[in-house]
Amino acid sequence: MASLSTEIPAAGPAISPAPVLSIVTPAYNEAESVRLLWEKISSVLNDSPWTFEVIYIDDGSSDNTWEKIRQLQADYPQGVRAFRLRRNFGKAAALSVGFSAARGDYVITMDADLQDEPGEIPSLMAKLEEGYDLVSGWKRERNDPLEKRLPSRLFNAVTRKISGLELHDFNCGLKAYRVEVVRELPLYGELHRYIPILAHAEGYRVTEIPVKHHAREFGISKYGLGRYFKGFLDLLTVAAITRFLQRPGHLFGGSGLVLGGLGFLILCYLTAVKLFLGAGIGQRPLLLFGVLLMLLGVQLISVGLVGELIVRKLGGHREAYQVRETLG
Ligand code: UDP
Ligand code: MG
Repeated sequence: MASLSTEIPAAGPAISPAPVLSIVTPAYNEAESVRLLWEKISSVLNDSPWTFEVIYIDDGSSDNTWEKIRQLQADYPQGVRAFRLRRNFGKAAALSVGFSAARGDYVITMDADLQDEPGEIPSLMAKLEEGYDLVSGWKRERNDPLEKRLPSRLFNAVTRKISGLELHDFNCGLKAYRVEVVRELPLYGELHRYIPILAHAEGYRVTEIPVKHHAREFGISKYGLGRYFKGFLDLLTVAAITRFLQRPGHLFGGSGLVLGGLGFLILCYLTAVKLFLGAGIGQRPLLLFGVLLMLLGVQLISVGLVGELIVRKLGGHREAYQVRETLG
């Protein structure tokens, strides 16, 4: 008779303990780079005080990036995790997948194309340990062609002006965060460029340090001038959220009250003319003007109220992506 085992059955494979650092790296057609990136990162971090995981997000690649990531994950199941998006959703969406998956206390974002230098991680971490919540890399010597560097300079200058945040380089893929900064960020479109602005508006302490930047070795850049166009429109959205439209009820309601009030006074005046002077007012242009101003005032106040309700409702997280597969 077989003896009954009294041992408690194992609850499946052991889950590795949460690492301290989560490196989040979006990859769109970067097949040649993904393994090299892991090797560079682990050679820097293996002798460091920090345990780490690298989270790859394949942003709908059409080359064999996912295959390469899959092999890498099979070789290093403790250190590599990966998500594959159903199609190309853009870098912002890819990053937000990584942000919600990160298990570390600190998150580092890094492009998958080897242009960012993993050797800078200790300097970024030193700044976080000083007490900053977000440390942005600054590609002081940027190794990209002039036609990328010039528009980028202009873009950074405009962004500084509109956002009021004094960073040199909003486009650097290499950044470090305390995990709470990125956990609930609603990111879509080109908004990843403005994470420091959004974080700054939330009251987080933001700084930057110069970092090394390499020329692209494999593959091609995914971004042309079009990104600045889209990026500029998204900048307006960010500025609206963080600076100008915190209280739409006040912005629109204020102008609505002034204009509507003016219309009301005009109509009072015309009523007095009619009642006390007995004059006809039906033909006066001022009548139309007063009525229009009153209507405009009511409209503006309503827009402001609707805006307030939307701002309150949409404060939370928004899914702007679809995950196809998950490893690790
Ligand atoms: N990327 C992405 N989705 C995209 C475009 C780019 O995940 O739709 C990734 C890309 O694979 C790279 C990083 O974002 O790791 C930065 O892109 P890229 O190197 O093309 O930009 P550049 O360095 O030329 O500014
Ligand atoms: Mg690049």
